[in-house]
Amino acid sequence: MEGKEEKFDIAVVGGGPAGLSAAYSAAKEGAKVVLFEKDQSIAHCIRTSGVTWISEMERLGIPSKFYNPIQNYRFVSSSNDVLITGDVSKSCVLDIRAMYQHLSVLAAKEGAQLKVKSNVIDVIKDGHRVVGVRASTPEGMLTVRSTLVIDASGFSTSVGRKAGMASNWKRYGVGAEYECYCDDIDSTTWVLMVGQKYSDAGYAWVFPLSPNRVRIGVGIGRPESNAEPLEKLHKIIEKRFKPLDTIGQGKIQPLELHYGFIPNQGVRRNSIADGLIMVGDSAGQSNPLVLEGIRYAIDFGRLAGKVGADSLSQNSDKESLVEYERSWKAKIESKIQSALKVQMRWVGLTDEEWDKEIEILRDMTVHEFLDFIKADFTKANMMKLAVHHPKIAARQLFNMILKS
Ligand SMILES: Cc1cc2nc3c(=O)[nH]c(=O)nc-3n(C[C@H](O)[C@H](O)[C@H](O)COP(=O)(O)OP(=O)(O)OC[C@H]3O[C@@H](n4cnc5c(N)ncnc54)[C@H](O)[C@@H]3O)c2cc1C
Repeated sequence: MEGKEEKFDIAVVGGGPAGLSAAYSAAKEGAKVVLFEKDQSIAHCIRTSGVTWISEMERLGIPSKFYNPIQNYRFVSSSNDVLITGDVSKSCVLDIRAMYQHLSVLAAKEGAQLKVKSNVIDVIKDGHRVVGVRASTPEGMLTVRSTLVIDASGFSTSVGRKAGMASNWKRYGVGAEYECYCDDIDSTTWVLMVGQKYSDAGYAWVFPLSPNRVRIGVGIGRPESNAEPLEKLHKIIEKRFKPLDTIGQGKIQPLELHYGFIPNQGVRRNSIADGLIMVGDSAGQSNPLVLEGIRYAIDFGRLAGKVGADSLSQNSDKESLVEYERSWKAKIESKIQSALKVQMRWVGLTDEEWDKEIEILRDMTVHEFLDFIKADFTKANMMKLAVHHPKIAARQLFNMILKS
């Protein structure tokens, strides 16, 4: 075979939050790990907006210097505007590049080898078992033989698909976002904009990083719509649709374009096979309500690395990886299922219906709102809302979740 050949215990494909976290924890357990990232540096191309939850970042040990805290949440529809104010910051917007670079340093410190500008183009199989990958690297072609491959390639699920163990996503979101300079915005409030004007099957957003830096974006669901998010985004910025009419009265100057895809059809039923783990977006581990998956990617990436390292003594047979699948499914599978139901309801709403739907949020406490948007649907929470919420529409919504 052309090029060099090397042996590793674990080959990780993808240098996003899932892959970097898997490489870190596997190396920490003593495994010999290599990670491939096709872009020229970690987080060179940003494909995400970076909204997440402070408690989750604290639990995962992500230092607060990597995020801007958010206290208030505003929803804008064609004729309505709802602001939910909190007294403490519970959400945040991540400095993605700095945070992912931090995750890469943690992995490197534990001894994982990181190979950037290295595109995994093929999977090596022995019968049905995955036994390695082939990558095009700056030093030429490299064949890696490994006991386990961790597919953390995100939306593309490049290893799982090439190995014939995963299919293309049929329902997914595509998003375009500009990170912009702006004159002076309220950096403690994020805004979601809903309805046809912003996105015919999705929503638009304004996520601040500081008083002078903001991410403005549009997400669109496929197959419901074929619209191009970048065109919508240009219109929103050019015409200064609400809330940009009052945000940064002066300049809004795009500095960086982000573009990405996210699976939106629930989790993959199978995330393990002999010699293979899929994690992060490649396994569909994201919350469809606000299309967020970074916290899951870090959490389950670490889990995949740990279970993967422990499985080496059993040749990483599927049975030795079951604990990984059991554990992540127990944490999120049913929540994501319920969130999908809400999302299906949202995709079909007209502008008038959206005006009413966001009214439901007005009567929620910050805690209720956050549990809801984070898809933290516990039966007790939903029951309380379904029985006691003052609005009938809200009771219907929460009942729908309870029945899922
Ligand atoms: C528009 C948009 C907005 C989003 N906003 C948020 C948000 O606000 N908050 C949130 O939590 N989540 C958000 N998400 C979701 C979040 O980005 C993902 O859930 C998260 O990035 C998943 O991490 P991952 O490591 O699995 O995949 P990714 O972050 O996609 O990383 C995969 C990596 O693998 C590399 N790769 C792929 N194929 C190969 C290959 N063959 N060889 C080598 N490398 C390869 C890619 O270059 C990439 O770096 C958003 C997604 C989109 C599309």
